[in-house]
Amino acid sequence: MRIGFGSDVHAFGPGDSVMIAGVRVPHSRGVIAHSDGDVALHALCDALLGAAGLGDIGMHFPDSDPRWSGADSRELTRHVMALLRARGYAVANADLTILAGAPRIGRHRDAMRHTVAQLLAVEDSQVNIKATTTEGLGFIGRGEGLAAQAAVLLLQIAPASPG
Ligand code: MG
Repeated sequence: MRIGFGSDVHAFGPGDSVMIAGVRVPHSRGVIAHSDGDVALHALCDALLGAAGLGDIGMHFPDSDPRWSGADSRELTRHVMALLRARGYAVANADLTILAGAPRIGRHRDAMRHTVAQLLAVEDSQVNIKATTTEGLGFIGRGEGLAAQAAVLLLQIAPASPG
């Protein structure tokens, strides 16, 4: 078993929605990002890569690479999962926390859970989505951006495939 942790932050910018855990959530702002700016999936990718000892999301999807400009973070997550599968890993569970004053996550939580579970090839019950505000404190409290944290546990279910 291997444990991983990831976190991510994005600033709000012009727009009318934000992608969170692969779900488009209507909001009075968007996020400023090279990709679609999905903090939850970015934190999740970092947790997955960390658990596998494969560095971080910036190494695999550099901001300088136009291939990832505006990228759907679900594609980034699928790419990370392919790397893990090639090494014989499967996900035991994932626990995500979204930190935001707004938008509120509650009514999107089930869709996020299902989306993440599909990406990780696990049952919904193996994914947990939590949300918290920061009680008005800091950049999140001031509505300047949002953040996410993720923890995952990987199981070695097969030998790493050669190459
Ligand atoms: Mg990010």
